[in-house]
Amino acid sequence: MDAIRTDDLTKYYGGTRGIEHISLTVGQGDFFGFIGPNGAGKSTFIRTLLGLIRPSSGQARIFGLNVGRDRVKILERVGYLPAEASFWPGMRVRDVLRLSAGLRRRDCQPEADRLCERLRLDPSRKVETLSLGNRKKAAIVCALQHEPELLILDEPTSGLDPLMQREFFDILRERSAQGATIFLSSHILSEVQRNCAHAAIIRDGSIIACGSVESLSRADARRVSVRGHVELDGLAGIRDLRRTPDGVDFLYGGDMRELLSALAKGDVRDLTVSEPELEEVFLHYYEEGGVRHDDL
Ligand code: ADP
Repeated sequence: MDAIRTDDLTKYYGGTRGIEHISLTVGQGDFFGFIGPNGAGKSTFIRTLLGLIRPSSGQARIFGLNVGRDRVKILERVGYLPAEASFWPGMRVRDVLRLSAGLRRRDCQPEADRLCERLRLDPSRKVETLSLGNRKKAAIVCALQHEPELLILDEPTSGLDPLMQREFFDILRERSAQGATIFLSSHILSEVQRNCAHAAIIRDGSIIACGSVESLSRADARRVSVRGHVELDGLAGIRDLRRTPDGVDFLYGGDMRELLSALAKGDVRDLTVSEPELEEVFLHYYEEGGVRHDDL
């Protein structure tokens, strides 16, 4: 059974597009990244998925349960980190954590202590005195302390310093190794590339590419760096061309034989052909507006 499954999920805010026709499946135990720039629809998808807002049309299921009908049952098995955490003023971090654990009728104290220590969060602090990063940590502990089967994390690393981001991903990897399913949204491609097994790219409310991170990174294009002089005029399939002090660097998606023949005519002293970064591939999807679905 899939951990998450949506069919044609669509949400309009009045006349404003939130998300359109999103059909996505995330298998149990997957470590899934949901990538897109601000305003693409990541939070709308997550909030609709969790039944926090009603879809305009389409369906969402979590562990096979209908999000509209079985929300309470679902939320018992899910840890959710909202993009912007807000707490009641006057409470201390430890009260917030206890309240959150209490809602799930669980004693999560040992795990909460462990997480606070690893994330260097002082539970005696009043929530209104917390920095953005520390508020984020408190929300992370709320989402993780009851050790849920499914973690849905909306932009979890924004506001965390690099050291804490690393610790946070270590914790997620441990949870993943224990069998939890992890779904996280991000606008930082490199963190998805480093940590996730599968990913979907969302643009303007629609999924434009979906598959294993490996296959998404493996675009048809190659990054080519040439040291020396080469004439590239008339060669189709060149993007992102940059002159370097001693040559040229570009993304190439055209016919390899034509490239090799152009290079052979030039004065090439060194040549590197490598797979582009996911970031470059992502920009390419954005520029050309292509849709690509690989098997998950
Ligand atoms: P992301 O999480 O990727 O930054 P959002 O899901 O927040 O994107 O937003 C997607 C689109 O929906 C944006 O155009 C945004 O302005 C719009 N939107 C989000 N929330 C609301 C809302 N409560 N009312 C009206 N429009 C909204």
